[in-house]
Amino acid sequence: NSSLHELDPDVAAAVDAELHRQQSTLEMIASENFAPVAVMEAQGSVLTNKYAEGYPGRRYYGGCEHVDVVEQIAIDRIKALFGAEAANVQPHSGAQANAAAMFALIKPGDTILGLNLAHGGHLTHGMKINFSGKLYNVVPYHVDEKTNLVDMEEVERLAKEHRPKLIVAGWSAYPRQLDFAAFRRIADEVGAYLMVDMAHFAGLVAAGLHPSPVPHAHVVTTTTHKTLGGPRGGVILSTQELAKKINSAVFPGQQGGPLEHVIAAKAVSFKVAASDDFKERQQRTLDGARILAERLMQDDVKQHGVSVLSGGTDVHLVLVDLRDSELDGQQAEDLLHEVGITVNRNAIPNDPRPPMVTSGLRIGTPALATRGFQAEDFREVADIIAEALKPGYDADALKARVTALAGKFPLYPSL
Ligand code: PLP
Repeated sequence: NSSLHELDPDVAAAVDAELHRQQSTLEMIASENFAPVAVMEAQGSVLTNKYAEGYPGRRYYGGCEHVDVVEQIAIDRIKALFGAEAANVQPHSGAQANAAAMFALIKPGDTILGLNLAHGGHLTHGMKINFSGKLYNVVPYHVDEKTNLVDMEEVERLAKEHRPKLIVAGWSAYPRQLDFAAFRRIADEVGAYLMVDMAHFAGLVAAGLHPSPVPHAHVVTTTTHKTLGGPRGGVILSTQELAKKINSAVFPGQQGGPLEHVIAAKAVSFKVAASDDFKERQQRTLDGARILAERLMQDDVKQHGVSVLSGGTDVHLVLVDLRDSELDGQQAEDLLHEVGITVNRNAIPNDPRPPMVTSGLRIGTPALATRGFQAEDFREVADIIAEALKPGYDADALKARVTALAGKFPLYPSL
C-alpha cells in the first residue's frame, strides 16, 4: 500500500515534472485539454481491478454489479447529452472507436471515402499504413485549393464514381464546420453509410455551439479527451437499429475487457459536459480561437508570410499557413516551445515541405479555456504568438509574459 513516491520514485518524479510542465506552460495543442480532478479520481479508482467482458446486465464475469451501474450511467448520460439512440462507451480510444465502427458497418475490401490526411483527415480515415488504409479501398477527398474548404462537389463526384460502402466525415485539422446534411444526402444517393468522427468538436456540439451530426449520421464516433474534456478514450453513438452490430464489433470484435475505471471517468465528464459552466467554457474556447485568428491575420504578421488557412475559424483551432514564411512548421513549433507555448506543427493542404517538417501550425484553445482564460487573456496569448512568429523576437520577454499568464490561472492547485 505504498504511495507512488515511496514505491517508485523514478516514475513519481516524471509525473511530478509533467504536472509542473502543464502548470507552468500554455497548452495549445488542439486535441488536448485538462481533465477535472474528479475525472482523474474516478480513473485512478479500484475499478481498474475489474474484468467485465460483455455489457451491463450481460457480463462474462461475476462481481460486475457495481461496474454495471457505472457503465449504464455513462451510456445514459452520453445518449442524453447528444440525443443519440444508442451508445457504446467501451472503445479504449478514438482510433479503436473508428476501427470498431468500420468493422460493424463494412467488410475488408469495401470502398470508403475519407478526408485526405494532409488535408485535415485522421489516420483512421484511410491513411495508407493505418488499419483503415490496409483493410479498405480508400478514395480520399480533399479541400478546395482556393477556399481550403471541403470540396463537396468532389465528394459527390467521387461517391458516384466509386460507390463507397462508407463515407467518413470528420477531421483532425480543419477550421470550419462540415455540412452533415449534404454528406448524408450524398451517402443516401449511393447507398453508403455515413460515419461522422466528431472527436475534435464533440465538446462544441455538446454545448450547442456547433451543428450536431447525430441526426444525420448512421454512426458518430468521438474521443472523450479533446474538447469534451474527459479521460482519454472513445465512444460510438448510433441508431438503435445498428446498436447490436456496433456492440458486437467492439466486444468481442475488437476488444476484450472494458476499462471500467476509464468508463467511470467518462461518466463523470459527461455530467460536467451537460452543465452551464461547460457551455460557457466552450463559448470561451470559440471566442479564443477567433481572437487568435484575427490577431494572426494582422499586417505586422502577414508581412512576414504568415497567414491563417480559410481566413479564420468556426471551431476551437486555428491553422497557420507558413508556406510564405521563412519559418517552417518545425521551427515555429520549437520557438513557441522555447517561450512556453505548446502547439503542434501540422501539414497543410498541398504542403511543399515533408511531413516531419511541414509548413503549418495547429493551435487550439480548449485547454486554456478550461484553465479559465477570458477574451483579454486570449488577446494576450494571441499577441505573444504573433510576436514570436516575427523575426527578431525577444524570447525572454515573451517567456515572461507566458509565465505571468500561467501564474494568473493556477492549474490543479490541489495536486
Ligand atoms: N479521430 C480524430 C478526428 C482524431 O483527431 C483523433 C486523434 O487525434 C482520433 C480519432 C484518434 O483518437 P485516439 O488518439 O484516442 O486514438
